[in-house]
Amino acid sequence: MSATETPVPPTQSHPHESNGQPAFVPALIIIDMQNDFVSGSLAVPGAASIIDNINSLLDLPWRVRVATRDFHPDNHVSFAHTHGRPLLSKVVIYHPEDTKRASGIEQVMWPVHCVAHTNGADFVDGLDSKKFDVTVSKGTHSHIESYSAFMDIWGRNTTELPLILEELRVTDVFLVGLAGDYCVKYTAADAVQFGYKTWLLTDAVKSISNEEVALQEVSKKGVLLTTCREVIQRLGNGV
Ligand SMILES: [Zn+2]
Repeated sequence: MSATETPVPPTQSHPHESNGQPAFVPALIIIDMQNDFVSGSLAVPGAASIIDNINSLLDLPWRVRVATRDFHPDNHVSFAHTHGRPLLSKVVIYHPEDTKRASGIEQVMWPVHCVAHTNGADFVDGLDSKKFDVTVSKGTHSHIESYSAFMDIWGRNTTELPLILEELRVTDVFLVGLAGDYCVKYTAADAVQFGYKTWLLTDAVKSISNEEVALQEVSKKGVLLTTCREVIQRLGNGV
């Protein structure tokens, strides 16, 4: 790659420089490509169709490839079964340390999904998961729900993801996976909040309901939309 072909403009918030060139340190974040979200109890329409696109990205020169996964106990607070409530109804839930019940959040009652150490929680067959550098689990506590790969829904506790990205001096995060209108959307919004230049690959994301609305929402928050082909062209030139 020549000096005039800087793949992506430098980020404002991470002005690390080397040899006079603005740093570009990209991380790929593969969100929740698990059996239950592809073909199981909470299958996202069309999810299998993005596996090949995600695989096509894995050999690019990422600083790190982080995979996230829902990894729930079988009595997780997001499960309708846990509350004896109808699927897709809503229940207000509180962080377990919020003893005064000051910050309730309306939680969708999902089917039981991605129970830790079950087939439903495994990465989907066909995905080159051996190429992942790190796996970040979320929703591991029975009373805590996390959509974002950065933190729980109340913003009280982070996962290890912020530290991983910070220690590797990542400047740009590229998001793929499931579901575009839940975990990808919330991860994208938090990535912007944490100061990362944030890209969402529209042809490597699928949503449960209205993807167009989700993409509009993240765009308004400063997330940049791109495609696998564009990313391969930009990063692949340097391989
Ligand atoms: Zn979940």
